[in-house]
Amino acid sequence: MKSGRVFEIREFTLHDGPGVRTTVFFKGCPLRCAWCHNPEGQSFEIETIHVKTSVGSRVSRDRIVGQDWTADALATELLRNADIMAQSGGGVTFSGGEPLAQAEFLLELMPLLKEKEVHLAIETGGHVPHETYRRVVSRMDFVYQDLKLLDAAAFKRWTGGDLDIVLENVSWLRGSGVPFVFRVPCIPGVNDDAASRAAFDAFADGARIEYLPYNAAAGAKYPMLGRIFPMATLG
Ligand code: SF4
Repeated sequence: MKSGRVFEIREFTLHDGPGVRTTVFFKGCPLRCAWCHNPEGQSFEIETIHVKTSVGSRVSRDRIVGQDWTADALATELLRNADIMAQSGGGVTFSGGEPLAQAEFLLELMPLLKEKEVHLAIETGGHVPHETYRRVVSRMDFVYQDLKLLDAAAFKRWTGGDLDIVLENVSWLRGSGVPFVFRVPCIPGVNDDAASRAAFDAFADGARIEYLPYNAAAGAKYPMLGRIFPMATLG
């Protein structure tokens, strides 16, 4: 049995799919988006975050980020809200980090939720090997597929990734029959200009696409991890 590493379980979420949901944030991501507002979700390692307890105070406390779960234990935890999910037409959403980076664990967890008829959604950057993407996503009820940049050099610069990996997976997704929506995080000075918007709309080619506003507080967690917010130096 594999274990899965999670950095947050958020109950009663309303914007991660239909109905009332529980969103599970998986720890670890193959990308390093300069604007990432969940930097504690990037490393696959368990980390310590230093949180100030009051503004202007030197008092701080450490918080451990990352917890390992067996599939059985996590399913039991998630199913605590099964009645509320069912009544609202909700379910569980896998987010991160990159949930597909823990695909083998997901493949153990998902049947445990599916046998209780829990609706499953995933938020993914799609930067994983195609076989991995296909095996997991084909079992999902709904997919939020990130689109960040459509130019390979810009994608590399701002995320550290290889755009072709994402495009191969998106190409499969379009014909898979799995319901999906594209999600574009609008990043000032990166992809929020009119030309980029037109390119995203053309790329979507009639598929649903959502444009998400930039999170102005995105940099707040970096100092707590002893890191510098990349947007402050790359921009
Ligand atoms: S894909 Fe998401 S979690 Fe990963 S670095 Fe980018 S914004 Fe952060």
